[in-house]
Amino acid sequence: MRILVTGGAGFVGSHLCERLLAAEHSVICLDNFFTGRKENVAHLLDNPRFELLRHDVVDPLFVDVDQIYNLACPASPVHYQYDPIKTLKTSVLGSMNLLGLAKRVKARILQASTSEVYGDPHVHPQTETYWGHVNPIGIRSCYDEGKRTAETLFMDYHRQNGVDTRIIRIFNTYGPRMLPDDGRVVSNFIVQALKGQKLTIYGKGEQTRSFCYVDDLVEGMMRMMNTDDFIGPVNLGNPNEFTILELAILVQQKLGQKLNLTFKPLPSDDPRQRQPDISLAKSKLDWSPTIDLSAGLDKTIAYFKGIV
Ligand code: NAD
Ligand code: UDP
Repeated sequence: MRILVTGGAGFVGSHLCERLLAAEHSVICLDNFFTGRKENVAHLLDNPRFELLRHDVVDPLFVDVDQIYNLACPASPVHYQYDPIKTLKTSVLGSMNLLGLAKRVKARILQASTSEVYGDPHVHPQTETYWGHVNPIGIRSCYDEGKRTAETLFMDYHRQNGVDTRIIRIFNTYGPRMLPDDGRVVSNFIVQALKGQKLTIYGKGEQTRSFCYVDDLVEGMMRMMNTDDFIGPVNLGNPNEFTILELAILVQQKLGQKLNLTFKPLPSDDPRQRQPDISLAKSKLDWSPTIDLSAGLDKTIAYFKGIV
């Protein structure tokens, strides 16, 4: 198949492109290189089935493809809050452009949505039937509401125009090729520890997240794309839940360091808890994560040791 991956030079996108090429597909990797890097896909450039396209999804695009994975959107709070209006445009106008393309060329299209659609959740763990608790006017809203609107667009193009859509809700995913200055917690802690700096804990570190290794996520994404008669939304994440303080302790233990922390203010609207209920992914996709946090951190630390 010919497959378009938007945001393909980013962290998750580059791993997805790799897997799609390994499965003998042809891949068009589209990116505006805001948080993506050409280096992330440099090892794929020699593959005749791989094409790298500099393009912004806010502008319309015409390519003939069989499948579209829409990953274009900065994912780290630091980056999506840098230009919030652009973040909204990326999710909303980008989705409209790509859904229009999918309709025109009859491609199946998958949206990389997020656990952020649940906001600061009152239901725990989060199931797909929960509508969420999201602030529409806060500093995270450009991302959360952009992704929620994108989900609405996907469902309406499906109902109104019969577009073959899929929605996945990704929970915190980490691994090699996150940017060293990405700002998300796993890369921040590893880079800080490797530089001998204090690990920055926002708030008291009592808030929780559930961390999924990137290879597990990519497997789930491909299963969702290639499953018929199930359009989602479906949660993809690792249900093992940790406090941020527990994560900091684990990272420093792995590097044989004493605990060395500094506490910073908790950003506003920072969700207090997050854990995916993955019953639906298990039953519909026969998917569950296989790499636990300890093993995933080992691989990620090894990567950052090579670049920091
Ligand atoms: P990332 O920032 O590494 O990747 C995003 C990619 O999209 C980058 O390559 C960036 O340059 C590109 N991009 C941004 N705006 C664009 C635009 N207007 N046009 C074209 N390209 C654009 O982040 P990631 O972690 O790889 O996330 C990939 C997708 O998965 C995102 O849509 C994100 O919202 C979603 N997601 C990720 C996580 C996670 O924990 N990693 C969790 C939930 C959802
Ligand atoms: N966080 C932290 N120190 C950091 C970066 C993040 O304590 O250096 C916290 C952040 O406040 C949040 C959690 O870690 O509670 C996860 O943050 P991240 O930005 O990785 O993802 P998100 O908040 O979008 O889940």
